[in-house]
Amino acid sequence: MAREKLEDKHFDVIIIGGGIVGAGIFRDLCLHKKKTLLLDKNDFNSQTSSGSSKMLHGGIRYLENLDFALVFEALLEKNKWLKLAPHITKEIPFYLPVYQNSKWPLFFMRMGLFLYDLLSLFKNTSHKVFSAQKTQTLLPGINSKGLKGSGLYYDGIVDDHKLGLECVYDGLNHFDQSIAHNYKEVYKVSKTREGKYTVFFQDTLTGKKDLAYTTNIVVATGPFTDQMMHLIDVPWENIIYPSKGSHLWLKKDALPISDALVMQTADKRVVFIIPQREAILVGTTEIPVPAQSDFNDLKPTPQEVSYLLEQVNIYFPEAKVSFDHIMSSFAAVRPLVKDGHSSSKISRNHKIYNPQKKMWVIAGGKYTTFRKMAEDLNKKLFAKNDWSYDKKKSSLPFSQVSVIAHPFRQKIQPQDIDDILQKELVRTQEDLVLRRLSLQTLDHLNDPVIIDYIEKLPLQTIR
Ligand SMILES: Cc1cc2nc3c(=O)[nH]c(=O)nc-3n(C[C@H](O)[C@H](O)[C@H](O)COP(=O)(O)OP(=O)(O)OC[C@H]3O[C@@H](n4cnc5c(N)ncnc54)[C@H](O)[C@@H]3O)c2cc1C
Repeated sequence: MAREKLEDKHFDVIIIGGGIVGAGIFRDLCLHKKKTLLLDKNDFNSQTSSGSSKMLHGGIRYLENLDFALVFEALLEKNKWLKLAPHITKEIPFYLPVYQNSKWPLFFMRMGLFLYDLLSLFKNTSHKVFSAQKTQTLLPGINSKGLKGSGLYYDGIVDDHKLGLECVYDGLNHFDQSIAHNYKEVYKVSKTREGKYTVFFQDTLTGKKDLAYTTNIVVATGPFTDQMMHLIDVPWENIIYPSKGSHLWLKKDALPISDALVMQTADKRVVFIIPQREAILVGTTEIPVPAQSDFNDLKPTPQEVSYLLEQVNIYFPEAKVSFDHIMSSFAAVRPLVKDGHSSSKISRNHKIYNPQKKMWVIAGGKYTTFRKMAEDLNKKLFAKNDWSYDKKKSSLPFSQVSVIAHPFRQKIQPQDIDDILQKELVRTQEDLVLRRLSLQTLDHLNDPVIIDYIEKLPLQTIR
């Protein structure tokens, strides 16, 4: 399935960027039998799309901005993917403790949770509200000072590496004339005399250069959008408001809770604590970064780490969570589209631009809404090409899923690793360990035979 040959270099569509948005567009195009080339300069789903809070959610916090249409759309998508990809998604409860000085008092929170369920057309598991006393039983160790009670609502969590990767596998499986290449950086796009596009790219692991031709071009490069557009010869004004967000993975025993909770912070933000798999996810921060900075493989700053630990210790003072509890951390840049507001207030809606004939640029949005983003873009692209579009196709279940959905729920055999190498577009050891097996490090496997097997594979390491 990992088709490598680019002998026939003419495509209906070339997509630059294989994060969740590019991968979703690719899948939809392949489902419509459009010959598509997907190019990413890194591994697929390795940048913002693997640095998210890993939630499929309507965004309870956006109710505050009265962004009901966005919440409605995202809840619809969340509930769709919980059904379509149950092997890598899960609905879980989120507690929302309320204190005397919380920005959302108890009555406001009660209304908000009702509205959230209503906007899901009551497809969410129903919310509940608890007294302060009950909250202390449900969330052992929670700070009781000024505690008024808590709300409980349901959202989804997702393996954010896998959902995007499975869009790519599924697309390739549906249309064998399409190709997906990771580690191919697009460095130039030019127009041919016939009005088509030539896309020039270079392999970032081998340095080899290549090119391909296309009638339509889609730029889905997330936070890299402005940087990418300045490599293309079209008038372009920067649209991205890059906002960095960091997360920590804490050891499972750092906190005495097994359910997720939403912390309202003194600086009027929310930070999530989400026990997942073998660790507890804490995030996120929200820090504007310069538009021309390097967005690849970011790390949290010491200040961000301290800020996140401080929030956890305000809610769980007895736990005394410290640097020693941190297993690992990661950071990514939100591809927000400027609208005159600050990062937390900017709308999470996506925008589609058409800077030149048969060239589309898509940015903004959320991981949760990627399918709808793909649908909106492809509707426009199909209309311009007089192709007929069937919006039902992208709501079909996957025809090919990951060989290993959960590394800890099944014993991994050498044959599984061979299958992954054959089917899942792996080029480096990080691709295999971080994204195909969803491990933070190989040691987490706790299986010397498989660790040895993987270490002996002739795979490049890049970090
Ligand atoms: C901290 C944080 C938390 C978040 N939490 C959530 C959440 O819980 N739920 C949710 O729904 N959303 C969440 N989001 C938002 C969501 O993660 C993003 O909206 C989404 O992942 C963006 O996907 P993308 O495909 O647009 O960008 P990306 O995933 O960044 O993909 C863009 C791709 O373009 C490639 N690229 C760039 N330049 C080139 C080039 N020249 N040639 C080839 N390829 C190129 C990059 O390598 C990259 O892979 C969060 C975002 C952040 C930052």
